[in-house]
Amino acid sequence: MDLGLKGKVAIVLAASKGIGRACALELAREGASVVIGSRDQEALTRTAREIEAISQGRVLAVPTDVTRAEDIRNIVATTVRELGRLDIVVNNAGGPKPGTFEMLDEEQWVAAFELNLLSTVRLVREVVPHLRKAGEGRIINIVSTSVKQPIDGLVLSNAVRSGVVGLAKTLSVELAEDNITVNNVCPGRILTDRVRQVYRIEERISAGMSEEEALASVARDIPMKRLGDPAEMGAMVTFLASRQAAYITGTTIQVDGGLVRSLL
Ligand code: NAD
Repeated sequence: MDLGLKGKVAIVLAASKGIGRACALELAREGASVVIGSRDQEALTRTAREIEAISQGRVLAVPTDVTRAEDIRNIVATTVRELGRLDIVVNNAGGPKPGTFEMLDEEQWVAAFELNLLSTVRLVREVVPHLRKAGEGRIINIVSTSVKQPIDGLVLSNAVRSGVVGLAKTLSVELAEDNITVNNVCPGRILTDRVRQVYRIEERISAGMSEEEALASVARDIPMKRLGDPAEMGAMVTFLASRQAAYITGTTIQVDGGLVRSLL
């Protein structure tokens, strides 16, 4: 299937590793030029070179801390200056601090708000004029299954990411006549550094489990009995970015091996 991504330009935030990297890689494989942003210049440049090796379009690495409004303005301006257009944005960020309500203070709430909600608001504000100019656009937010079924011990994700879903649904209506679609993708448990940290995989291994046993223990309540591959997130995001997905907007879809038990 030709996804119609050749010649398109995409920004993927928080893309030096994990899910962001996988999304950038898959978009590049389909012929889009990609601009990746995260904080660590060295890791970002390394990832850009890896993506470039399989890409038909250009790959730019623009150091970006998504909590800084000026960095978001800069990555969008650089993209349009260097590549001449903007069609797709994948709004990703690091995860908020794990913890129960009583473990977290005011500062950590504000940090999660800035990292996972305000960053989206700021990105959308910057990109909409360029997407309108392109005649259509795709805004894809990486959230979490916590927006469908709150996760124990992750109160910041449970609370703040629901704000992204509310924002996205509103935008999907407000931007529909501009042919700009807005959708959310919820990773369940995708094997990245974040999941290794949240589910303490290294501790399980130190306690005597093999790597395979440690991963299987984290996947026990997933109907498919395995963790997801970042490429499986990349595939969903790339489909939502494609021309075939032009009529899909305002949705929140999980990539989770059946983990979420809710009907919708
Ligand atoms: P990861 O830790 O493997 O990668 C996170 C990426 O975000 C890295 O590239 C890092 O450099 C970047 N980053 C962190 N803070 C940043 C900032 N302030 N500015 C710019 N870049 C920043 O994580 P991941 O598993 O790929 O997760 C990506 C997102 O998806 C996170 O928000 C995470 O909470 C969420 N999520 C992941 C899973 C999963 O199964 N992996 C599940 C639910 C939600």
